[in-house]
Amino acid sequence: MSAYQDVVENIAQSCKKSGRDEKAVHLIAVSKTYEVEDILPLLDLGHRQFGENRVQESQKKWPDLQQDYSDIVLHLIGPLQSNKAAEAVALFDVIHTVDRPKIAKALAKEMQNQDRFPKLLVQVNTGEEVQKAGVLPADLSGFLKQCDEEFGLKVEGLMCIPPVDEEAALHFALLEKMAQQHNLAECSMGMSSDYDKAIALGATMVRVGTAIFGQRATIK
Ligand SMILES: *Cc1c(COP(=O)(O)O)cnc(C)c1O
Repeated sequence: MSAYQDVVENIAQSCKKSGRDEKAVHLIAVSKTYEVEDILPLLDLGHRQFGENRVQESQKKWPDLQQDYSDIVLHLIGPLQSNKAAEAVALFDVIHTVDRPKIAKALAKEMQNQDRFPKLLVQVNTGEEVQKAGVLPADLSGFLKQCDEEFGLKVEGLMCIPPVDEEAALHFALLEKMAQQHNLAECSMGMSSDYDKAIALGATMVRVGTAIFGQRATIK
């Protein structure tokens, strides 16, 4: 069994244990730093959802693959600069990292221009870490209201990256609660080390890199 198939199997087990519908949990294979040759075996196995965290790196890797496999779902899971909004809208199907008015505004403009409407998630800085991207929990309601009323953006879910030194489950539970409060369907949470917990706590998208592809050469 490949590492990928192990992860798929673990996800099925986690769903069974926590009474979740397997179809409601999507595995995003995080291929950042990995090459097209590393991605092809997953495509051969029928996997179609992939995550990247840099626009530029993705532009080198994905357009040809998107031509060959029209049903690829490409997720941007890393920070987005507003000067990359056009490229991001053109390339990605889901953007997990909307986290400030400037980005929301730039995405809204590009989505209209290109008539392309990626699914949008708001990143929440659940650990309130100064160095980390994301809207603070206290600012989430206001930001969602602004996305809707000022920019006409439909936000469909929330995403978080828990602090490395804290119990991830607390952050997953908080994100799930906030998504419920705001009637948002998608919860993007859980990585290689904790996707089982995230599934138990309501994740609809888990972002798994190293458990599938192996340890990355550089930390990104
Ligand atoms: C790299 C990355 C992941 C995957 O992390 P692994 O520990 O390799 O599974 C998930 N989410 C984000 C935002 C990432 O940048």
